[in-house]
Amino acid sequence: MREGLWQAVLGEIELTVSRASFVTWFKNTALLKEKDGKLIIGVPNVFIKQQLERKFNSLILETLQKNGVEDLGVEYKIYTPKVEGGGVKKDTDEDVEILNNPTTKTQPRTNQTSSLTHSYRQGLNERYTFDNFVVGSGNELAYAACQAIATSPGTKYNPLFIYGGVGIGKTHLIQAVGNAILTKNPSAHVVYVSSEQFVQEFLDAIRFKKNTDFAGFYRGADVLIVDDMQFIAGKEKTQEEFFHTFNALHQANKQIIISSDKPPKDIPTLEERLRSRFAWGMSIDMQAPDFETRCAIIQNKAVSHGITLVSDVVEYLANNVQTNIRELEGALNQLLAFCEMRELEPSLQVAQTLIGAAQTRPKHISAKQIIERTAKYFQIQVGDMLGPKRDKDIVVPRQVAMYILRSELHLSFPKIAKELGRKDHTTAIHSVEKIEKESAFDTDIRSAISEIKERLYA
Ligand code: ADP
Ligand code: MG
Repeated sequence: MREGLWQAVLGEIELTVSRASFVTWFKNTALLKEKDGKLIIGVPNVFIKQQLERKFNSLILETLQKNGVEDLGVEYKIYTPKVEGGGVKKDTDEDVEILNNPTTKTQPRTNQTSSLTHSYRQGLNERYTFDNFVVGSGNELAYAACQAIATSPGTKYNPLFIYGGVGIGKTHLIQAVGNAILTKNPSAHVVYVSSEQFVQEFLDAIRFKKNTDFAGFYRGADVLIVDDMQFIAGKEKTQEEFFHTFNALHQANKQIIISSDKPPKDIPTLEERLRSRFAWGMSIDMQAPDFETRCAIIQNKAVSHGITLVSDVVEYLANNVQTNIRELEGALNQLLAFCEMRELEPSLQVAQTLIGAAQTRPKHISAKQIIERTAKYFQIQVGDMLGPKRDKDIVVPRQVAMYILRSELHLSFPKIAKELGRKDHTTAIHSVEKIEKESAFDTDIRSAISEIKERLYA
């Protein structure tokens, strides 16, 4: 019934906040249901829940309003997203019905990506500039070529073909070129499009018989920037169209910039004639930045948040996330938010607990290990924890164990209750909620949780 609503809201929010914020705070959210005049939004953990409540609540409400939801409030609830590739975990006890959840389906991003790039066409995302791009080994060549193009488009490297792995700054850099050109010459017709969007528009143009508009639009560009060229692979008709666009622009000395995750020769089913066109200009292999550059990126981003980080925190982050700058930004954001909420200094220890745990998460731990670790930490017997005792020094550890079962293993509440020998799953719900709340201000509980986790993953 609210089909597409949350998708639309996320699509708009994605345009408003930085990419890293979006990925960190919004990506794994879902509209679960409507209840008592409120939309229940599912979020993966308590940090994200708090952040959405504190920082993004009004943005979310506004965006909902724009999408026609006037009279409903919003409540955030921690939930277990469906996992990709089958293996559906569901909170059977919460009658959670996922109305629409674009980000947890198998092909989650397609819709969002198209709406995103579509708006970008009106203007590039001005967040991506040369000024906030840190230059270092791995990206300096690409940076220099992009600068040269920004200075005199259409003359030197045409086309410029930049390729490299995910999250290393390709989009940032090629958009920075577009932004720089527009700053100098606001009437320049800069067109930025992802190849997916190009394909989609081309198909629409054929379907709605507006092929001439489509061709005209792209052939009228002064600068054409095509991101993620690999997605054009196998689309023969679109490649042919692109080939003609390319020729028209190139002949008129218009600048063409292309990015891809691999070099032209490795894009399967890329037409030979396009391949040879791409070879006319310059191809640059962009590499993940080295350690020093990663440190500089982190320090820069922190400063833009008004925070100066001590060097061991910077180095810890830079060492832990090595190839993907988007993830690096995500880790930093999570750390900063965590510390902000608790009024802590972002220290090495906090970073280790927060990011360290997330990093090593793939390691398999069992419910039994969690219960044993928790009992050990509180120096009580596992048997007591599973038994009927209701003394405070047994009850609290039991609740902490439930909380960790929930946050680390995403078990359903009935399953958590069962693991701890309880019959009634509402006990589990209350326990998890209680610890969630308390850990926000109770340092003892918080350090218990982080220490238990640290040992679990050690
Ligand atoms: P790609 O297109 O290669 O997947 P992006 O350009 O989207 O990667 O970069 C991912 C994120 O990392 C963006 O938020 C971008 O601003 C940031 N980023 C990447 N490289 C740098 C850099 N050298 N300096 C500053 N930010 C960077
Ligand atoms: Mg990109």
